Amino acid sequence: MTGRSEMVQLEFEASPRPETEPADGPIIEAIDFSVSFKPGTYAVRNVNLQVPVGRTTTLFGPSGCGKSTLLRAFNRMIDLTPSARVSGQILYGGVNIYDRDIDPVMVRHHIGMVFQKPNPFPKSIYDNVAWGRKIHGMKGDMEGNVEKALRQAALWDEVKDRLNESGLSLSGGQQQRLCIARAIAVEPRVILMDEPTSALDPIATYEIEDLIESLRGSYTVVLVSHDMHQASRVSEYAAFMASSEIGRQELGGTIVEFGTKDMFSRPQNPRTEMYLSGKREAVKKTK
Ligand code: ADP
Repeated sequence: MTGRSEMVQLEFEASPRPETEPADGPIIEAIDFSVSFKPGTYAVRNVNLQVPVGRTTTLFGPSGCGKSTLLRAFNRMIDLTPSARVSGQILYGGVNIYDRDIDPVMVRHHIGMVFQKPNPFPKSIYDNVAWGRKIHGMKGDMEGNVEKALRQAALWDEVKDRLNESGLSLSGGQQQRLCIARAIAVEPRVILMDEPTSALDPIATYEIEDLIESLRGSYTVVLVSHDMHQASRVSEYAAFMASSEIGRQELGGTIVEFGTKDMFSRPQNPRTEMYLSGKREAVKKTK
């Protein structure tokens, strides 16, 4: 049996409250945020994190430490998993998105998401991009906005003469850029990307990385990546997540270290250093 004070101390060590705001100010802030899928266990535990506005931040860490779960919590996609229970707060522009009167559809309008596997709708390229603006009842020049989103997603030149063809007729890399265009079209402030290149070949991966770099300044991007070269190339900030356990009790993933991308070359926390140098001990901290 482990004493409660021991557990509290470990959690405190694992996830210190941020002492200062990032220089750019946070657009999303997690405060003591936890997610559980099963009573008595946690996928994400006591996360405190400030996501800097207009910057790209990469979440990295061992498989299963809760990166996707945290990302899906940032725009309430986690609501779609009936067993998920959340506690703590996720502030977006200072408002807790889990407050009772907040509409998750509006949250996803502001905070879009791109998944691992490109998932265009079985609709035309044009309709894929126009879809979000239609369902959100956004007015204005639809054709102009579709073109603008496709240009920002670096896809316009490749598809401008085939806008009526199915989105599914595109290559994998083009499909992923179409999904990014679809996310951009509703003019979100934040785009969450969950390993957006893991299903792509190296050239398509490089194109998506270029695209993420080009979004810098216009959007806040939160990226989950297993690829440390990619993370250090495209991100400005980084957060290392890892989970802890006491005996057989899983405490869930938390933020071990947050900082600029210098973390990839000069990690401050020994667990981050162990992970980056491929040491197994980084995966679990046990007591
Ligand atoms: P990562 O993205 O770091 O690989 P995940 O967020 O996918 O980690 O998973 C964190 C933990 O939550 C894992 O133990 C995983 O099995 C669990 N988990 C994730 N999604 C679900 C779900 N829908 N139902 C139950 N458990 C889940």
